[in-house]
Amino acid sequence: MTKQIKKIAVLTSGGDSPGMNAAIRSVVRTCAFMKLECAAIYRGYQGMIDGDFKDMTARSVNNIINKGGTILKSARCEEFRTPEGRQKAYNQLKKHNIDAFVVIGGNGSFAGGLKFNEEFNFPVMGIPGTIDNDILGTSYTIGFDTAINTVVEVIDKIRDTASSHNRLFFVEVMGRDVGHIALNAGVGAGAEEILIPEQNLGLERLLESLKRSKKSGKSSSIVIVAEGDKTGKNVFELKDYVEEHLPIYDVRVSVLGHMQRGGSPTCFDRVLASRMGVKAVEALMAGKSNYMVGIRDNNLILTPISEAIKAHTPVDEELVRVSDIMTT
Ligand code: ATP
Repeated sequence: MTKQIKKIAVLTSGGDSPGMNAAIRSVVRTCAFMKLECAAIYRGYQGMIDGDFKDMTARSVNNIINKGGTILKSARCEEFRTPEGRQKAYNQLKKHNIDAFVVIGGNGSFAGGLKFNEEFNFPVMGIPGTIDNDILGTSYTIGFDTAINTVVEVIDKIRDTASSHNRLFFVEVMGRDVGHIALNAGVGAGAEEILIPEQNLGLERLLESLKRSKKSGKSSSIVIVAEGDKTGKNVFELKDYVEEHLPIYDVRVSVLGHMQRGGSPTCFDRVLASRMGVKAVEALMAGKSNYMVGIRDNNLILTPISEAIKAHTPVDEELVRVSDIMTT
């Protein structure tokens, strides 16, 4: 028989994303609502190993729903990848009377949680918090909506200056393995071309498209490039390439970088995080473990972590088609 859960811990791990605080708040308040004890673990798995814990009440999470980043701090932790590190973490959890934990993070954080569960039969629940939207088992991860809105807002501003000077801008956005940010923000901001890791459109097509753009009288062009795009050239090399082959263009580069991770979460991310936090605690109390909470067709669902970490979510083919039509 499994042990009754009386105290749940919550941690954030891996890269931070806007909305993580809303998820922490939700886990803490759901515990309070269900008359469970709750502890926060600071600095991800490193804090778990170090015993960096703090007991939480419903009031501990006042005024954080609107804040970006994570109040618990996040960290990457090499030691947790070792059996010795995980043993130390287990000892700390036992010392603090913790019966289960909710980890808010990405694939790596879930892989760590799964391994921990396999070794210690310790209940673990995952909440997807990453701006990349690349986790199987959910249509949206917490932080993605905020990130694409940030990118669209910035591109709108870049377009103002681009059209004033008849310039072409290459804008690099995050996405080493997946192009969800590039594709969604690109369609939303009306980009002329969107280069993503899932497709290799080729440099020839890019030149053709830019030539067409110029001929049709467009006063500016924005090309969104995901970090991991497959042309084999980074944004600065793309700039050089286009200037060499299409000297009519005055080309500029903008690398958006970490600003995409920051900022106050959108209402969508806050609501998503609040819903996922409730579901995570309820699922643990229903005796479930090793699942990730996700959302599909606006319903919350549970996917085994082993499935969720198998691959990245493929790019939405219908949106690729829409983007092709929009860039005509
Ligand atoms: P992001 O989407 O930002 O990359 P992530 O959760 O995937 O987030 P990672 O750095 O991959 O981020 O993982 C976070 C932490 O999870 C690692 O620092 C490590 O402590 C733990 N972890 C990752 N993979 C494993 C694993 N295979 N075994 C044990 N622990 C792991």
